[in-house]
Amino acid sequence: MQTIGIIGAGQMGAGIAQVSAQAGYDVLLADVDVARAQAGKDGIAKQLKRLVEKEKLTADAAEAAIARIAPVGDYAAMGDAGLIIEAATEREEIKRVIFGKAAEVLGSNAVLATNTSSISITRLAQASSDPSRFVGIHFFNPVPLMGLVEVIRGLATSDETVKVASDFAAKVGKQVVLAKDSPCFVVNRILVPLLNEAFFALGEGVGSVTDIDLGIKLGLGHPMGPLTLADMIGLDTILEILRVLQQDFGDPKYRPAPILVKYVEAGWYGRKTKRGFYDYSGAEPVPTM
Ligand code: NAD
Repeated sequence: MQTIGIIGAGQMGAGIAQVSAQAGYDVLLADVDVARAQAGKDGIAKQLKRLVEKEKLTADAAEAAIARIAPVGDYAAMGDAGLIIEAATEREEIKRVIFGKAAEVLGSNAVLATNTSSISITRLAQASSDPSRFVGIHFFNPVPLMGLVEVIRGLATSDETVKVASDFAAKVGKQVVLAKDSPCFVVNRILVPLLNEAFFALGEGVGSVTDIDLGIKLGLGHPMGPLTLADMIGLDTILEILRVLQQDFGDPKYRPAPILVKYVEAGWYGRKTKRGFYDYSGAEPVPTM
């Protein structure tokens, strides 16, 4: 397998494209249009330049990696890809439309994967052309730095498909854990309720943004506080994930904290919009509460 198709060139899709290109794959990168895909590639070029400046990558390797990424305006060229990974917005209806379009070009032995954080792989597979060749490949953010990938098999996913997914993850330098197809799989099942509890605590005035983040960072030995992490993940994404947990388990314990809903309504999604629980418009993040 030499060519990987990636649909969605946001923070995750771009990260997956970067590690794939660095591992030697040719990458076709798509988004809603070719300009967005190109913006994803431009962001990767910046990341690679930073690695060269820090002497973590040679200039030649960075140049070779960037040359392997081709932004595309439609999926036609992805007929040559052995693996297509969808990493678009965490909305089931968006993903279903993408899988329908991908089915028109997917090669007869190729695998279609989703990077969803929470949605049922078995259910999403129904929108693909062949559920036995559909699988969850869940990367972590930021992709180039995080060493884990969860591989999730839907009810119909074949052993061969799980192997393609696991081999790909290993080739891009990640360790694989196999997760059952249950809402949020392993890591987010445990992480997202923790983040939601931090939002409730903030909304109830139990602590300030700084106190909640410092408390968890130093008190639990986490590398960063939950509000900093939430801003990095994207508050819109976390809200979608909580809604999946609440709906699929039918358990009110997963109801999203009101402050999260308000922030998303305000368009304050975190780092990617320069405002979330922190303001990112200056040189250093500033707590907003
Ligand atoms: P993002 O908002 O940074 O990027 C989403 C991208 O999808 C955008 O560029 C958007 O233009 C594109 N998109 C929307 N509709 C599309 C369509 N119809 N066709 C093609 N592209 C489309 O979001 P993200 O953080 O990169 O998340 C993407 C996926 O990865 C989600 O399923 C999310 O749950 C999952 N994920 C996110 C994280 C995280 O920490 N943010 C971690 C693991 C997995």
